[in-house]
Amino acid sequence: MVEHTESKVQQGERYVVIGREPFARMDRVRRVVENKKGCFWCGQKRKGDKLFAYGVWRDGVSILKIGWLRGEFCSISCMRAYHQGQEW
Ligand SMILES: [Zn+2]
Repeated sequence: MVEHTESKVQQGERYVVIGREPFARMDRVRRVVENKKGCFWCGQKRKGDKLFAYGVWRDGVSILKIGWLRGEFCSISCMRAYHQGQEW
């Protein structure tokens, strides 16, 4: 993944592009979600009960069709630990 951070607001929602897979022609994206239970991996909570959801946004596809991975996490490292063996 090529690290790359860029905020985008579309359809009233804010997304942050966190990286690009140039050969797969897709971006890695993150959005803020409300979660009072804590991170799916470590159980930690973040300020304001906000966690992150991570997804894959393929080129040419509507922002409404981002493929969100299961789970909500405090950090990308927790998301990677939870989804071990997957392409992240
Ligand atoms: Zn965590």
